[in-house]
Amino acid sequence: MKIFELLQELDRKAPLGLALSWDNCGLQIGSPQREIRQILISLDVTPSAVAKAIEIGADLIVSHHPLIFNAIKSITNPLYLELIEHRIAVISLHTNLDVADNGVNHALAAALDLIPISHLTHETGSTWYHLSVTCPPEAIAKVRSAAYAAGAGRIGTYTGCSTVHGVTGSFVPLEGSTPTVGEIGTEEVVLEQELEMMVDSFQLQAVVAAITHTHPYETPAVYYYPVANPNPAYGLGLICTPRQQMTLRELATDVKARLGTGSLRLWTAGMDVDMKITRIAICGGAGGSMIREATGQADVLITGDISYHGYLDSKIPLLDAGHFYTEYPVLKSLQEYFSGLSIASTVLPIEDHEFSRNFHNI
Ligand SMILES: [Zn+2]
Ligand SMILES: [Zn+2]
Repeated sequence: MKIFELLQELDRKAPLGLALSWDNCGLQIGSPQREIRQILISLDVTPSAVAKAIEIGADLIVSHHPLIFNAIKSITNPLYLELIEHRIAVISLHTNLDVADNGVNHALAAALDLIPISHLTHETGSTWYHLSVTCPPEAIAKVRSAAYAAGAGRIGTYTGCSTVHGVTGSFVPLEGSTPTVGEIGTEEVVLEQELEMMVDSFQLQAVVAAITHTHPYETPAVYYYPVANPNPAYGLGLICTPRQQMTLRELATDVKARLGTGSLRLWTAGMDVDMKITRIAICGGAGGSMIREATGQADVLITGDISYHGYLDSKIPLLDAGHFYTEYPVLKSLQEYFSGLSIASTVLPIEDHEFSRNFHNI
């Protein structure tokens, strides 16, 4: 598979349009035309990741954290030079993978054996649009399936969502038009159906093109406008339930064992460590800003990188399992995804990553 083909596949798994506005995801180094035979998957593009990629003959590193974040004016960084010299491309799937369905947080939920219920927030880089188009009744099925195929009609965990109702349309074809129905200069009144569906902004262009191509009219009346609410299909963090009832203390011990983290910080917020836990908020990576979102929605938040004041101000118990360990599970799920595309891949082992090599819990 060539890199550009993989990028098209990845845009279905973790659409770039879901990435938050400040982020820099996608192809960072490399030619879209290059063939990929072997991928190294790593949270970061570090010297040990590049060394591993060279060792296994990888053509591509897929990282979660972007290699390039800020604009660069010259390429002298030895890491970049080594990648270029060994013709190793880099694709980063960052906040698009954080907020995507089956991304970072679904992988974390699976690693913790928790059942996801809903997203913790609906923060994404995408805007949700309401789209409507009027159609002759006999063309509605064709137009609707073309729109679905281009990505329209997804609401939360449902797909194929639309409404159709009868309308009376009228129009006057002007000079220069080639009307499917009616004559130039004469008002035409026709019974039509109006098809309404929701579309995410990153699919809007493709959906409008699909409708226009399948619609029998020369100039279909397609309207779309952004709505104030987000698509519940995506968002940062998840609310989960445990498979069996457990206490805060049991949850903490379980999380530590399942993620293999050397240390874990439990903040009780003044609660009893033997309190029963029924709803668990999770957010892989730096989820300190999710404390406020989780309060009232969950009994506890599991995340990484919580600050001193984050702990002090929190009204709910917190489990800080570390940025690295809460995001690492997504790498295994990426490997399964690549094997589904028949591309060989290797996950940089935990012990090879700088984070575990250089950190010691004393
Ligand atoms: Zn992340
Ligand atoms: Zn991260």
